[in-house]
Amino acid sequence: MTALLDATGLFFKPARDAFPGAVAAEWAAAAALDPGAVGPDGAWRLDFRCFAVADPDGSGWTMIDAGVGPAEGPGAPWCPVPGRLPELLTEAGIDRADVHTVVLTHLHEDHTGWAADAAGRPFFPAARYVVQRAETAALDRLDPVWDWVVEPLRASGQLHEVDGGHRLRPGLTLLPTPGHTPGHQSVLVERPDGRDVLVTGDAVVHAVQLAAPAVAYAHERDPATARASREELLARAVDRGAILATAHLTRPFVDPPGAGTR
Ligand SMILES: [Zn+2]
Repeated sequence: MTALLDATGLFFKPARDAFPGAVAAEWAAAAALDPGAVGPDGAWRLDFRCFAVADPDGSGWTMIDAGVGPAEGPGAPWCPVPGRLPELLTEAGIDRADVHTVVLTHLHEDHTGWAADAAGRPFFPAARYVVQRAETAALDRLDPVWDWVVEPLRASGQLHEVDGGHRLRPGLTLLPTPGHTPGHQSVLVERPDGRDVLVTGDAVVHAVQLAAPAVAYAHERDPATARASREELLARAVDRGAILATAHLTRPFVDPPGAGTR
């Protein structure tokens, strides 16, 4: 499993405005868990990351999320810099034609930027793109992700909509974690070495939500549902002895809170 850092930079609002419910002790704990996220003058420095999971037999790849995309992509109005996924794939020796599956945790700009290109062609030509049906159903037709991602993938027959929990492939399971968006999903990756990985998507966006999982993110569609999903996901990670893989912390892999206590 390979972490691919598409972009990194400062969020468009201060960290305390993004998590207005967090208190000083929780910010201190967050800074200890992810010191890289502490930017200048209260800024939130965050990564924008995707993951590539190799098939056990080496025959292909599953991508989890598709980054902020190119300079002309839908994330450009607010993402700090364009993404560099094409170079990262080359460096990692991953041919995009060998990606047979792309799981989109949700349909926000910073997770779908490389799903397609500016000409409206699917970026991964042979992949089926897996998204929850509840996510596409809730997406506004005027959202830039509709034209950038949903339309071209539907047109090419590559959009694969699923409902709820789903065993996608051996060792890869979709876990619905709604709240951040209506059809948000996380991914459980069972690894041959026995150390499972839970790819959180935006169920966890900042270490302050590991220090205090009840803390809401200001851009969650349904904060109460998001909190329940986050708490359940973190408990599941502890139960399984799984490590978390996050899109936006400045460390790709991090232990869930309470790891090793059960
Ligand atoms: Zn995000």
